Amino acid sequence: MATRRDYYEILGLNRKATEKEIKTAYRKLAMKYHPDRNPDKPEAEKKFKEVAEAFAVLSDSEKRARYDQGGHDAFGADFNPFAGAEFDFNSMNFGGMDFSQLFDMFTGGGRGGGRGRGGGAQRGEDIEFEIGISFRSAVLGETLEVRLPRKAACGACSGSGVVSGTGGDRCVACGGNGRIAQGRGGMQIAMACPRCRGTGRMPGSACTPCAGSGRRGTEDKLRVRIPPGIQDGGKVLLSGKGNAGIGGGPAGNAYLRVRVGADDTFSREGRNLLCEVPVGIAQAALGGTVEVPGLDGPTTITIPPGTRSGQKFRIRGKGVPANGRTQAGDLVAVVQIWPPEKLDKASRKLLEEFRRLNPDR
Ligand SMILES: [Zn+2]
Ligand SMILES: [Zn+2]
Repeated sequence: MATRRDYYEILGLNRKATEKEIKTAYRKLAMKYHPDRNPDKPEAEKKFKEVAEAFAVLSDSEKRARYDQGGHDAFGADFNPFAGAEFDFNSMNFGGMDFSQLFDMFTGGGRGGGRGRGGGAQRGEDIEFEIGISFRSAVLGETLEVRLPRKAACGACSGSGVVSGTGGDRCVACGGNGRIAQGRGGMQIAMACPRCRGTGRMPGSACTPCAGSGRRGTEDKLRVRIPPGIQDGGKVLLSGKGNAGIGGGPAGNAYLRVRVGADDTFSREGRNLLCEVPVGIAQAALGGTVEVPGLDGPTTITIPPGTRSGQKFRIRGKGVPANGRTQAGDLVAVVQIWPPEKLDKASRKLLEEFRRLNPDR
């Protein structure tokens, strides 16, 4: 393993930094390197984890004291800097987390002591699910009813996880202040009370239907508007439709990944629709009108004499319809010259005559 950087250096602080300075430095750097702001930059995610680790240690008075005395060596090889925090950074997917939530996990809730929404509030997880839709639905947009399996707040306990009317008394272990003093080598160190997990209130009896988790698996029926022009693999955000939060935290988001089927007639290139148009040899040589299929019915176009296979004709505005931000795409007809498969006697004679006059064509 490479040499580890000094935690103070990572946060750009000196060893006398106050708690407030540590928080300010962390907030600034975590925002700068947050993966949501630095997509596809693994370097930023590495920095972000480094900053989080430094903060996890320096913001905890006991861990900070140990670090000040012994540096990185003060902790064993399998030291987890996030132990005792309400989550584990090492196993976390940062991409789906919004920054304020991440910050609250360190500094709000139980640690802050009775501020805001109380101990252990956590945002629900984001969830992702997939549906298949037809080519035409993807081009034109559609409103669909979907079934979304998610964890919702338990109805029996309104998401609290405890039987209503139980708990809430002052914690007997810490006397209600959420912290207890522990002696270590002659020093008194304040730690979050393990009995009430820093909330200062006695936990109530666990709710039976949700086993105390406050959430239960369910399947929601939702009406979802698929916007016109969505691509295969595109995602629709269903804000706040992810798993319910824990301890009063907000719900996560749901993402609907769309799989688009193929179509016999059309293919897509961005917002343009492509279709092949068969043209006979006489029509191609002499020019004329041909019919082009469209999503809202056929259109007739004129092709000039001498049209070749693969030549493209653009019909403006007949592709993916316009939406608020983008203009309508075009329908592109790609000519394919189809010689007749069978010839009647007269036609054959005419073509042979044509060949005699134009041996090279
Ligand atoms: Zn419940
Ligand atoms: Zn307590």
